[in-house]
Amino acid sequence: MSQSVPKKIRVLMIEDDDVDAAFINRLLTSCPDQTFSVDHVKSLSAAIETLSKNDYEAALLDLSLPDAVGLESFEKIRALDARLPVVMLTGMNDEDVGLQAIESGAQDFVAKEHVSGQMLFRVLRFAIARQLKVMGFQAAADTDPLTSLPNRRYLQSHFDEFIKSAEIKNTPASLAILDVDHFKSINDQYGHFVGDAVLKKIAEIMTQTLGENACAMRIGGEEFAVLMLDDDIDQACQRIDQLLKTLASTTMSFDELSIVVTASAGVIELKYSDIWDKAFVAADSALYEAKSSGRNCYQRRDRIESSTAV
Ligand code: GH3
Ligand code: MG
Ligand code: MG
Ligand code: MG
Repeated sequence: MSQSVPKKIRVLMIEDDDVDAAFINRLLTSCPDQTFSVDHVKSLSAAIETLSKNDYEAALLDLSLPDAVGLESFEKIRALDARLPVVMLTGMNDEDVGLQAIESGAQDFVAKEHVSGQMLFRVLRFAIARQLKVMGFQAAADTDPLTSLPNRRYLQSHFDEFIKSAEIKNTPASLAILDVDHFKSINDQYGHFVGDAVLKKIAEIMTQTLGENACAMRIGGEEFAVLMLDDDIDQACQRIDQLLKTLASTTMSFDELSIVVTASAGVIELKYSDIWDKAFVAADSALYEAKSSGRNCYQRRDRIESSTAV
């Protein structure tokens, strides 16, 4: 997504009513000073499939769809791509739900009965502009859109700075790599949506549990990193142990589903001579040991001071 509202706005319209869809499509394609290209799908499941394959600047989302109730559709779309501005299309009496959608992060809502061309152009353009402002260009590049945690790119590009600041303060620093256990079976059993929601929940638990001076990041599909500035290996292991225990004892509820997940971790203390690749290999090999020794646990890797050892 570029930093300013683009010339051509690609919109995904998620609307099960053909008459409403045709009306909105006509309004958008008749805009005199902005080109909209509109793709139309009629269900949440079709929207999810389309969104995972194509890029859009905005989505127009009908509040009542055959396969989603209320804000469920919005939540699921946001779980898939938190950067996509979503404007809700509501019926005349849905103002309360429209407001709830905004509280949950939707950009705006319009009542289909009252919509005009000019209003819709304005709403979409402002929604995109606001979302860009909220997310920020830098944030978009350095932030994982699903969990809002910093991503791998962020960790890699700031790693040297973190090490340098630990060295200057003469304080220890540690790194953990976490991988969710048997995550594939969550997707297989409950579907990708639920898988995504679980990842978001894990990110929340990490942020809440880790405490000060520990930064959680999502560095891969179901893989997270924790950078612990000020922690030596013993303190880092304690922190990670606490995190794994909290995770394993949390029941996540999604509609009628109750899910418990566990994770495994590899923990190392960083050296001032470390570069990211080396630190990652060391922590990842400890993680591999944790997986081999039964999962839902951490392994530490004590490193000898030498220029070749990891
Ligand atoms: P292990 O305990 O050995 O780590 O088993 P696992 O099933 O977690 O490991 P595996 O590497 O076999 O599977 C990882 C799964 O994570 C497969 C992939 O589809 C899923 N995954 C990766 N990224 C995402 C994502 O963003 N969303 C969802 N829903 N699933 C994801
Ligand atoms: Mg409908
Ligand atoms: Mg993995
Ligand atoms: Mg895994």
